[in-house]
Amino acid sequence: MGGLKKVSTLHDVALSVVVPCYNERDGIDELYRRVTEACRKQTGHSYEIVLVNDGSTDGTRDAIFALAATDSRIVGIDLARNYGHQIALSAGLEFCRGERILILDADLQDPPELLGDLMGKMDEGFDVVYGQRLEREGESWFKLATASAFYRVLRRMVDVDIAPNTGDFRLMSRRALDHLNAMPERYRFIRGMVSWIGLRQVAFPYRRHRRFAGTTHYPLRKMILLAMDAMTSFSIAPLRFASHLGLAFGLMGFLTLGYTLISWAVGSVLPGWTSLAAIILILGSVQLMVLGIFGEYLGRMYMEAKRRPLYIVNEIAAHGTAGTEAALPVHRLQKLVKEAVRA
Ligand code: UDP
Ligand code: MG
Repeated sequence: MGGLKKVSTLHDVALSVVVPCYNERDGIDELYRRVTEACRKQTGHSYEIVLVNDGSTDGTRDAIFALAATDSRIVGIDLARNYGHQIALSAGLEFCRGERILILDADLQDPPELLGDLMGKMDEGFDVVYGQRLEREGESWFKLATASAFYRVLRRMVDVDIAPNTGDFRLMSRRALDHLNAMPERYRFIRGMVSWIGLRQVAFPYRRHRRFAGTTHYPLRKMILLAMDAMTSFSIAPLRFASHLGLAFGLMGFLTLGYTLISWAVGSVLPGWTSLAAIILILGSVQLMVLGIFGEYLGRMYMEAKRRPLYIVNEIAAHGTAGTEAALPVHRLQKLVKEAVRA
């Protein structure tokens, strides 16, 4: 950890705001204005805003790099393609260098003006102050219902305490973030990983607003994928469920066997094709389901075993410069930080 201290004191800032951005062009300028204002109020000039472009197709990258060219407090990171929200966020978290770190969405659903309150809470000695949504404006009943069902199931299955109605909106201390960054896994459910760390964490209730511009990038398909990441990376309960299911059906089979034997003994054997077919169908589908659960974990182990990097950076714009030349030192710095964390 000694090496890490040296690296981070090179250019410490009091606060980093990390924002993953995917097709958010229409919101970037407003985001910049409001986040800058909030940061100025809280930290004077000791802050940076890390904007990660996650392979957008709408000119978000240019909007970010234009800001970085005029304001040295903007760090623009352009990823090589769309890696998804949690990976884009991880990239920003690895590059940022603040003493405290605020995670924010680009769509301004979580108001940056709450920064002061979050900072105040952290001053009381907390390592993580996580936003907990009291109300969510402009979300469909379907999203609300599925989200709440998801948290209910997750909390029953998982041994770490993941608070309901939280997103990634949170303020973290540097020591908590260093622990998060040291977790190498590929399937990342960041709010769960942060809870797993422990230390002193506290909820901060707030009202979530509607999007400033654009539409959600979490359609049902992605929500299901995130839910699967959350379940499989924090729990082996589904694997256990497989054996419970096997046990239940074994018991049923045993009872049926008893019934068949008795029928045979009293000599009332029926053709019984229907029941036979039903049993085969049910057992067949249960076996396939169990295999599917096994496969889900196996596939994830295979992907993890490859140990590929989580993401590739195309270009970085930092401190008023843009282009790959400027990217080099930052990249080295990142490598240094990673090695220091591992050591
Ligand atoms: N996002 C991203 N990559 C993606 C999808 C989303 O970086 O592939 C970003 C997006 O720009 C936003 C944040 O992740 O800043 C949350 O996404 P969104 O607002 O669409 O999700 P919701 O708030 O509807 O759950
Ligand atoms: Mg959003």
